[in-house]
Amino acid sequence: MLKHVYDFVVIGSGISGISAANTLIKNDKQVLILDKARNSGGRLSTRIHLTFSFDHGAQFFTTKDLEFSQIVQKAIQTQEIAIFEHPEKGKVYVGNPVFRPFISKLTSPLEIMQNASVTYIEKPQDRPDECWSISIANNQPVFAENIILTMPAPQANVLLPDYLTELKQATLQAKYDPCIAILAGVEVPLSSSIFLENSNLLVTPIILKKGNISWSIAKWSLSYKKNTAYLSIIIHATPEFSSKNIDEDVSNFVDNLWEEWKSHIETDAKLKASALPKHISYIEGHKWRYARVIKTPDEECARTDQKYSIALGGDWLKGPRIESAWVSGRNAAISLLSKDKQ
Ligand SMILES: Cc1cc2nc3c(=O)[nH]c(=O)nc-3n(C[C@H](O)[C@H](O)[C@H](O)COP(=O)(O)OP(=O)(O)OC[C@H]3O[C@@H](n4cnc5c(N)ncnc54)[C@H](O)[C@@H]3O)c2cc1C
Repeated sequence: MLKHVYDFVVIGSGISGISAANTLIKNDKQVLILDKARNSGGRLSTRIHLTFSFDHGAQFFTTKDLEFSQIVQKAIQTQEIAIFEHPEKGKVYVGNPVFRPFISKLTSPLEIMQNASVTYIEKPQDRPDECWSISIANNQPVFAENIILTMPAPQANVLLPDYLTELKQATLQAKYDPCIAILAGVEVPLSSSIFLENSNLLVTPIILKKGNISWSIAKWSLSYKKNTAYLSIIIHATPEFSSKNIDEDVSNFVDNLWEEWKSHIETDAKLKASALPKHISYIEGHKWRYARVIKTPDEECARTDQKYSIALGGDWLKGPRIESAWVSGRNAAISLLSKDKQ
């Protein structure tokens, strides 16, 4: 049987992979995205558990890039994105109520294979014009003329063939801080005194930065039928705490960080939330080993090898932000498209 060869395979359906594919399909290329995760979004993904939903990676973003700004403005109109008044940064963009609908909208025109963990990419060094063969765990290999890697730098480093020394060198320069995240869900009767004491609480998220907690946001969703309010809480530990504990079992910290969060909330007079329930319906920890880029490679580092038709994308090439990831993905796609035009 004749093997099918895609114009492009993009590895990673985080925001940089989505951006790369978006640019490629606009240029009429046939593109397949492979991602090892169950859902798209990477570090901008949402975990949903029954009545609770958590954006457990990126929390909000800003944008100056024209293309990305236009996409975000459309998403505001269609209500996948909302504007949020950040206590320190002013107006920022958030998922409405989480990022899942935004990611679904962005990925809807794209061909994506989820649960597809790429284990190996291969092209003989002496035959750069051959197509790439891409091995996927528990699946058939796929083939592509061009390939774009958009995962965090250390993961891209493992996949890159040894002969692509300059690209490998670039991946070695990126550095990250890890982040331990706690996802907690509590249920409260709508008649609870915490709402009577603070009528604004239901519509205003609780934001907290204290002690071992670098960021925490808690948002309510309501069911009048069940007379219940559901509080979905995200707690991000500080880089110091996360670095110290990233190799430990995350379940060791879940209770401590939750207790710390509650103790800060209970002593915060503004919140008047002393009646927060003792019972917790859902609690889970998540370790982001490569959470926030703290060092990008030098500007002169190679990001594309046109001879071998391979490019790198990802926030680690531009900076620790959603928008940087978007721009890096587009740049990777353009760098390979420009080869076609030569
Ligand atoms: C806790 C946390 C908080 C953050 N807060 C903010 C914030 O408030 N604002 C902001 O702008 N940014 C924030 N960021 C950073 C932001 O999330 C990232 O910059 C952005 O999401 C990176 O996108 P990316 O596409 O480059 O990488 P990723 O989102 O990491 O995407 C890489 C994808 O590659 C896939 N992958 C990896 N290896 C393989 C493989 N072998 N085979 C197949 N698929 C593979 C992964 O599953 C993943 O989907 C935060 C990040 C974290 C973790």
